[in-house]
Amino acid sequence: EDGSHRPVTVQKHKLLGGLLPSGFDERSCLSRHGSVLYHKELRQRPSSYLISRLRNYEALHKRCGPHTELYNRSVELIKSGQYRGSADCNYLVWISYSGLGNRILTLASAFLYALLTNRVLLVDPGVNMPDLFCEPFPDVSWLLPPDFPIISKFSTFDQKSPHCYGYMVKNDIVGNSSGSIVPPFIYLHLAHDYDDQDKLFFCDEDQSFIQKIPWLVMRTDNYFVPFLFLIPSFERELNNLFPEKETIFHFLSRYLFHPTNSVWGLVMRYYQAYLAQADEKLGIQIRVFDTGVGPFKYFLDQIFACTTKENLLPRINRGEPIVNPSGKQKTIAVLITSLSPGYFEEFRNMYWEHPTVTGEIVGVYQPSQEKHQQTEKLMHDRKALAEMYLLSLTDKLVTSAWSTFGYVAHGLGGLKPWILYKPENKTAHNPPCVRAASLEPCFHAPPYYDCKKKTGTDTSKIVSHVRHCEDVSWGLKLF
Ligand code: GDP
Repeated sequence: EDGSHRPVTVQKHKLLGGLLPSGFDERSCLSRHGSVLYHKELRQRPSSYLISRLRNYEALHKRCGPHTELYNRSVELIKSGQYRGSADCNYLVWISYSGLGNRILTLASAFLYALLTNRVLLVDPGVNMPDLFCEPFPDVSWLLPPDFPIISKFSTFDQKSPHCYGYMVKNDIVGNSSGSIVPPFIYLHLAHDYDDQDKLFFCDEDQSFIQKIPWLVMRTDNYFVPFLFLIPSFERELNNLFPEKETIFHFLSRYLFHPTNSVWGLVMRYYQAYLAQADEKLGIQIRVFDTGVGPFKYFLDQIFACTTKENLLPRINRGEPIVNPSGKQKTIAVLITSLSPGYFEEFRNMYWEHPTVTGEIVGVYQPSQEKHQQTEKLMHDRKALAEMYLLSLTDKLVTSAWSTFGYVAHGLGGLKPWILYKPENKTAHNPPCVRAASLEPCFHAPPYYDCKKKTGTDTSKIVSHVRHCEDVSWGLKLF
């Protein structure tokens, strides 16, 4: 290649073909441009329309973000209680809620909703968010300032709060003001336990009311992007942004989530020490929703059945104590993540005690063994993010059904995982796993409602690219 072009190519490569904005200081967030050296290339090119809408969003964020004049003016609306007319800037505040995998999926969903509705996304720092993620937008922070007027009330917002949209519908507070007076903020309850009125958020008619409100405060633990495609007024814009549906989270996650240097250190040290030298890297994400730390024999059997049946790992030779032929053997590094140490020990022992039938050498590694979810602890969350990221750097990936932790790993990596079915009644599932047909995460709790007919309906039948998930039969996902 002509030397004079190289810097441009490298630059473009670092910015993921234009997905990322330029102008950041590299050292303050090494992962932002460094991760490109470790990840596989983006599965597809982002559309030029997506790129231009992202640059426009960044400009909006800079104009309306925290501590700008327009922001200060908008905050005054909340303090004064009521407002008329239209605001200069409109906002979507994302409440930090649930486990880290869930938070990553919901933040991506919230960002896309903000992009579609020309709102500025602001992030409740919650416990650990600023310590885990770098700022994604140039110049102005995405973090909600600590002096935001209602920040201390977030923890009390629920379906019975007078500002909750579902509550307002139930009590006929919406629509009867016939025109100009709308509240300065409402609370959107989109968590798994949301009810029929909360779910009206996903109807066009309700969107046209919600659109008038300058501040939306949202709590969710669901990846609701698939349902945005079922809202007619968003459909066209979404199709322009994402001609290919199954890379939406892949693009959004690479755009938004850059681990901070402390997390990136965990990722890089582990990668260099245990994974980089292997000829092939296989990730196995083990998430068990049965109570108890485990390991559970039935799930272990199921994982072995999957890796064998799908030819992800070589079989072992239990018969002869073969010494492998001398010379360089192919090595496979297996990265296991799990709260429990037990599965890793079984895998490691098996491949230490017996040779493989192929002569391949299998090394098994597990970074942390935290035993229980401890979302409030900083180092716990850092390790969780580092592990999702490490899984995303493997060549092939096995994930567990229902787990958002696994969705993040495969989405970031652009890897179609083999999904281990959820064991029922403490019994291994047969077949043990299924290859995902799409890179997208699953929306676990979608509405089953036809907004126009005002009746229940199977929402997996409305458009061809939104269908049920492989791992959650009632969930919806993009294909
Ligand atoms: P989900 O419950 O599997 O959908 O994933 P979440 O990430 O939302 O919540 C599970 C939480 O448990 C994670 O955020 C971690 O705090 C913890 N956790 C679960 N599995 C693992 C694991 O393999 N490694 C680590 N370090 N933490 C885990």
